[in-house]
Amino acid sequence: MPTLLDRFLAYVRIDTQADEHSQSSPSTAKQLDLCRLLAAECRALGLADVSLSEHGVVMATVPATVPHAAPTIAWVAHVDTSPETSGTNVQPVVHAHYAGGDITLPGNTSRVIRVADNPELKSLVGSTIITSDGTTLLGADDKAGVAVIMATAARLVERREVPHGPIRLVFTCDEEIGRGTQHLDIASIGAKVGYTLDGFGTGEVNAETFSADLAVVTVTGINTHPSVGKGVIVNAIKILGSFLDELPKESLSPETTDGRDGFVHPYSITGGVASAEVRLILRDFEESGLKAHAALLESIAAPLRQAHPKARIDVTITQQYRNMREGIAREPRALNLALEALRQTGIEPKQTPIRGGTDGSLLTLLGLPTPNLSTGEHNPHSPLEWTCLEEMEAAVEVLVKLAALWGRESLAAAGQGGS
Ligand SMILES: [Zn+2]
Repeated sequence: MPTLLDRFLAYVRIDTQADEHSQSSPSTAKQLDLCRLLAAECRALGLADVSLSEHGVVMATVPATVPHAAPTIAWVAHVDTSPETSGTNVQPVVHAHYAGGDITLPGNTSRVIRVADNPELKSLVGSTIITSDGTTLLGADDKAGVAVIMATAARLVERREVPHGPIRLVFTCDEEIGRGTQHLDIASIGAKVGYTLDGFGTGEVNAETFSADLAVVTVTGINTHPSVGKGVIVNAIKILGSFLDELPKESLSPETTDGRDGFVHPYSITGGVASAEVRLILRDFEESGLKAHAALLESIAAPLRQAHPKARIDVTITQQYRNMREGIAREPRALNLALEALRQTGIEPKQTPIRGGTDGSLLTLLGLPTPNLSTGEHNPHSPLEWTCLEEMEAAVEVLVKLAALWGRESLAAAGQGGS
């Protein structure tokens, strides 16, 4: 049986980088290389209902070991890696018995994982740290999660004495480009709750994420040849420039906020004289905050419409994802049993709200309450990405405990279990 480390090293060597410019699903065919391997491994373990969809979603079931009808739970991880850093030819480097201090990456010695920037390394002296060689990302986001789920499934199959209900394994593509749940059918998962294994370090349970909207501000002007432009040209670039200048500079931006504060963040601009567009992400933990951010954009647009009656200024808002807090509150066991599983493993749980979204935000919105659990990720999306084998092993222990805790539950209504 391959070890957790064997699995992780095999998965990160497979290039699964997502491509946001691709319209296909999965966005890159190479993601299917890992999906096919996972489906084959699930079959080799003897799991039930193993499936691989045309969009790369892999599902399988670890059959129940308890005689009663325990709730089905799902463990979810994504196979793709970020488009921000190359994932081609990943050469993982295993730093056994980490001696402490900065870690210089052998493939590019200008890249150094510094303790000053990674204070969590201080408590990991003596453990096994895994990095890339510095020329690519590592892909622990989220192959640490994939490896942890597969290793736990293997352990449960091997040791049938752990009492648990049915457990669905779900591996998705294209999470990094926001399409992780696009081809995911909640009914076919068939679970009462889900857990994404895609969290930072160790001991985290994330049951709150940002709520997110996309705003597109489009200015439509009038263009003609500049030689005859007098009294005719309405320059969309200049009007959009005025709009941007009115955005708050000392607040409400990702560069000036943290914790529970939301923001309005312009991230892309395109256009010319006839038409110009800026795209902004709106983020907040509260629905009311998101509404206020949208109202702010309208309040900037209104006087500009007055000042430029020949121009057209449109502000369109599209929902992206929602804070999972309310969805999880409907099934309190989703959070409570995760906290209990951590404590039983000897880890004091940390509940940190995520300043972003997860596949779990979308799954929760679709009706499957899905908190996020730590799986040993550090510095995701970067050549300085690293993971710790012992943190991944702790995540396996937590999942075994979680399986056993859910195995004691019944299908009864929400709010009965937990502690
Ligand atoms: Zn991830």
